Amino acid sequence: MPVYSIACIDPEGVLEKSSNISGMLFYREAELLLSDPEKHDAVWIVSDDERFVSETLDRLRRERHYAVVPLFTMYETEGEYALLSDGKAATQRELAHKSEPMLLRLGHLDREAMVSSASIALLAYLYLRPDEGLKSYRSWHNPYIELYPIVARLNDSGMDDFQWLTMIYRRGLLEKKELLNRIRLCPKCSMPHHNFIDVCPVDQIIEIEKVDFVHCFTCGYVGPEREFLADGTLVCPNCKTGLRHIGVDYDRPMESYICADGHKFVEPDALAECLECGTISRPDELVPREIYAYGLTPEGILAAKMGTISDIYAILEQENFVTPDYFESLLDWMVKMYRRDAEAYFSILVIRLLNIPELVESLGRGKVVEFMDEFAMRLREILRSTDITTRTNETDLWILLPKTPEEGCEIVKSRIERLKSLLVHETKSIDFDTVCHTIGKELPKSAEAKDIMLSMSARLKSAGVKK
Ligand SMILES: [Zn+2]
Ligand SMILES: [Zn+2]
Ligand SMILES: [Zn+2]
Repeated sequence: MPVYSIACIDPEGVLEKSSNISGMLFYREAELLLSDPEKHDAVWIVSDDERFVSETLDRLRRERHYAVVPLFTMYETEGEYALLSDGKAATQRELAHKSEPMLLRLGHLDREAMVSSASIALLAYLYLRPDEGLKSYRSWHNPYIELYPIVARLNDSGMDDFQWLTMIYRRGLLEKKELLNRIRLCPKCSMPHHNFIDVCPVDQIIEIEKVDFVHCFTCGYVGPEREFLADGTLVCPNCKTGLRHIGVDYDRPMESYICADGHKFVEPDALAECLECGTISRPDELVPREIYAYGLTPEGILAAKMGTISDIYAILEQENFVTPDYFESLLDWMVKMYRRDAEAYFSILVIRLLNIPELVESLGRGKVVEFMDEFAMRLREILRSTDITTRTNETDLWILLPKTPEEGCEIVKSRIERLKSLLVHETKSIDFDTVCHTIGKELPKSAEAKDIMLSMSARLKSAGVKK
């Protein structure tokens, strides 16, 4: 059983004096704890002052390390702060019991990677709380109505919290779990606070009134009942006929609203007025935003454990590296050239790295970075200065080899394949798959860069993610 470093924030020094508490470091407030270079594994906030507790939780969760580790309070917290705290621990025994599963998981994380970026800290936070997931807190005084308390503390990206979360989600690190809510945003300023107004569907004025209507069968006039009332009986204000029997002399039509300009209608229109910018929208013009509880994907778990590996893949971006869009348009152009000139043949080769996450896990980042540096260097030796490369995603490196016939491409491919046996460490080596394709004999009429690349991708082994 490892010994954990537990900090106690005890503003009054109540527990510090108590004899039945042991193995804890005491601080009077969050700032003192944060100024200590030692990073504790868990924090216990011992105060019944609600404001002190919420300020302490807020302050600690803004620091990446303390955003991740378990924080318990001696007394129950409420609202948004309940989502920043890991719950109530009334005694040291309860604290030890409740924090233990989280501390065990904390032990799986690379502490340095954990705080290397706000997004990794968020993933680490979720990793420690696999059953909790990322939850939102709903409040009228929050400008966005819904907020994820931990995200609000960690996000230092300059994007709003939802954009930031969406970015992490799109990178495949988070998965949507339960749909918690759907809010509607102003199409102009994207804020969700609206006042809904009922208006006349004809002229949009708000002076509308719900009334009982009467329909005179004699002349067909329809009007509010009050226009018909005369000494307790109904008399048509238009043709002066006395209306005695419903269904015989008159009936009550569908319309039940009238506006100040005299328009009669069944249902008013609803308009949404943005309380932020004043824009008036129809409800169907508002932009829906779905609020989900998020959990980690297997890739997210991996990233939580050792930081992202994007920078490792990026080592392969070297000379003659172009963006995927440019690569594609270049490929399209070369296909067109080939149609006009059979001498303009060329080949495309794609390399997919299959086991980088696994290598990072078993060998550590440092060794894998060395591997990749060497791999990149050897690739440079094999390729010519006229070969163009791009990456369409983290794992796939594409190489465009002008004036290279099929045999030439096969030679390049086998030389690259041979690198596998050179890059070995403790029986582990970089694993990748390669596929090549030559534009040199027949070319289907509709062959566009996109189609060629898709069909090549389909022939590659998929890069497995270790769960
Ligand atoms: Zn009207
Ligand atoms: Zn009438
Ligand atoms: Zn607005």
